[in-house]
Amino acid sequence: MKRTNSESLFEQAQSLMPGGVNSPVRAFKNVDGKPVFFKSAKGPILIDEDDNKYIDFIGSWGPMILGHSNPIILDAIKAQLELGTSYGAPTSIENSLARIIKSQVPSMEKLRMVNSGTEATMSCIRLARGFTGKNKIIKFTGCYHGHVDSLLVKAGSGVSTFGLPDSPGIPKELAALTYSCPYNDVEALSEVMNEVSDDLAAIIVEPIAGNMGFIPGNPSFLNTLRELCDAHDSLLIFDEVMSGFRVNLGGAQAIYKIQPDLTALGKVIGGGLPVGAFGGKQVIMDQLAPIGPIYQAGTLSGNPLAMSAGIALLDTLINVNPFNELEKASSEIMTHTKNLMNAKGIPFSTSSIGGMFGFFFSESLPNNFEDVVHSDDDMFKKFFYTALNQGIYFAPSKYEAGFISSTHDHSIIDQTKIKIEKAIKEL
Ligand SMILES: *Cc1c(COP(=O)(O)O)cnc(C)c1O
Repeated sequence: MKRTNSESLFEQAQSLMPGGVNSPVRAFKNVDGKPVFFKSAKGPILIDEDDNKYIDFIGSWGPMILGHSNPIILDAIKAQLELGTSYGAPTSIENSLARIIKSQVPSMEKLRMVNSGTEATMSCIRLARGFTGKNKIIKFTGCYHGHVDSLLVKAGSGVSTFGLPDSPGIPKELAALTYSCPYNDVEALSEVMNEVSDDLAAIIVEPIAGNMGFIPGNPSFLNTLRELCDAHDSLLIFDEVMSGFRVNLGGAQAIYKIQPDLTALGKVIGGGLPVGAFGGKQVIMDQLAPIGPIYQAGTLSGNPLAMSAGIALLDTLINVNPFNELEKASSEIMTHTKNLMNAKGIPFSTSSIGGMFGFFFSESLPNNFEDVVHSDDDMFKKFFYTALNQGIYFAPSKYEAGFISSTHDHSIIDQTKIKIEKAIKEL
């Protein structure tokens, strides 16, 4: 498959943007390659600048759950376009999207719209600190919560890594307030808890993790988080920027039947336009300006185009409820892949929930970040490229999840299985 136009565009992009991209994962650094530049997309298909076609398993990292260029969403955006693109003032469609979200995620008694997932988690952290009057945060290694200063901290080995920022530019004094524990590990968490419980503002977690590959939280682990937060008057924040309206209508919190104090959303709720939202208990949310002392704002927050796209997408999702179908579709593809891999003696594990799935080159499914690190890197890279050259677009890193859409119908699933079979033959 030739990608000469992509290559020359990437060449130009590198003199314009750091690394040639506006978000790092896109650069294919994790798979030692050059990114594909796209010019259009329809349903499950992406078309690149060299007119190659790919069956898309990223879906813009979640939002394209009803396929690219879905006519219902395009029509909603077009209708709003005629009425104006931004007023910097309240609109009824903000009420509509807020009402829809609240109807499906009842723990969000009140919510506020922002423009990205990062803004949503950042605002949750500030609100948790302001509300509790405490400073420390516990997060879990491999969970990504956007590029928020306080949250760009990972654990090294051992139980707790105390305050080492992941990135230059983050004061160590700030990072020192963030504790990172291994995911799905109650024991390690309890030890850290003993150290920090007096000053713990919040525990933040991806209840279904999609940023270290796809790893669902263990129910007992997530229940422990709820109990510990209750016991120490700390807030439990579910970062459902990825899982919200992706694994099912109510998010991971509906699956596990756990009510967080605050929830961060993003990705799907914008229907492909830039949107985030955060919300939770009314007593907490009412601490925000203008009725409370904790400041949070946004010039383009609640943008009418983004709201219309989000409303059209969520309304359709609620009507169609495609989540069982989505899970069946990705399971069918991935079971086929696993059988072929195992027949070649290649260890492979996979799982799916709703419209998300994951696969790993490991005997058994990883339970945390360390396990993912130990899965076979070389094999991932090889398979990524043999699949890409067959026209299958998986996420370019073993630390990312897979996404499927309702437009991945029987014919697309069959085509995918054939392409994957060829890709595996070339390994
Ligand atoms: C994508 C993501 C974010 C950040 O959202 P942006 O819109 O990229 O800022 C935060 N948390 C999780 C779980 C995510 O998957």
